[in-house]
Amino acid sequence: MTKRKTIIAGNWKMFKTRKEAAELASAVAAGVKGEKDLPEVVLIPPFTSIESAINNVKGSPVAVGAQNMDWRENGAFTGEVSPVMLTELGVTYVLIGHSERRQFFGETNGTVNNRLKAALEHKLTPIVCVGETLDERESGLTDSVVRRQVAAALADIPAEALAVIVVAYEPVWAIGTGKVCEADEANRVLGQIRATIADLYKECGNSELAENVPLLYGGSVKPSNIEEQMAKPEIDGALVGGASLKAEEFLPLIKAGQKRVKDSLSKV
Ligand code: PEP
Repeated sequence: MTKRKTIIAGNWKMFKTRKEAAELASAVAAGVKGEKDLPEVVLIPPFTSIESAINNVKGSPVAVGAQNMDWRENGAFTGEVSPVMLTELGVTYVLIGHSERRQFFGETNGTVNNRLKAALEHKLTPIVCVGETLDERESGLTDSVVRRQVAAALADIPAEALAVIVVAYEPVWAIGTGKVCEADEANRVLGQIRATIADLYKECGNSELAENVPLLYGGSVKPSNIEEQMAKPEIDGALVGGASLKAEEFLPLIKAGQKRVKDSLSKV
């Protein structure tokens, strides 16, 4: 069984005012209080609610992330938020290349790479999102699209960085649609992602480092389907949208992560 980190991350998208964020963050923090063998729990609010979430998880093991960031430290980039601004708040994770950023806000494989380099430089744990559209899946392009996205994201990234990078496979057709990717198929694609990473670092003799990269599945994960996903060897956790917006749905997902942590500890 794996020694990789188990991660349950909740992407709140453009939901939750500061007040709502405070309520949800405190409910999650209260829900994990005193629990052992927890997965890494990450709340990812919109920028304006980050501080409120951070204030309300203080003293708990819950981490807070951002949904995006610019790769520059400051400058004339109206509407952008820099890594320095995030770390100053106490943010420790950042989503990079979420499909909604790619679809609606012009994110490209090149800007994903810029953001990944900046995240590493500023000691933020990056969750790099990749995944195919429905058209690409139906045209048999899933593996090639995902491989290309992973290779572009990791261009010029040193092997040591594999110790902190997290990759999430989020098929676009499964996000917010209620159509979860079958666990066997998600496991297969994540296996391809791990093989791609190993291949990319083969030349410098570091292909074994791919084994340490936590790989998450995301796309309509909810309490009724997470256990099947988490039972698969390549699925180290979940990136969750809709079901992270209510504590009563998110806490059972954390429980499923906790079960995976316990199972892996019992097999050491
Ligand atoms: C997401 O926003 O990353 C996501 C996976 O959303 P949902 O769980 O709602 O499909």
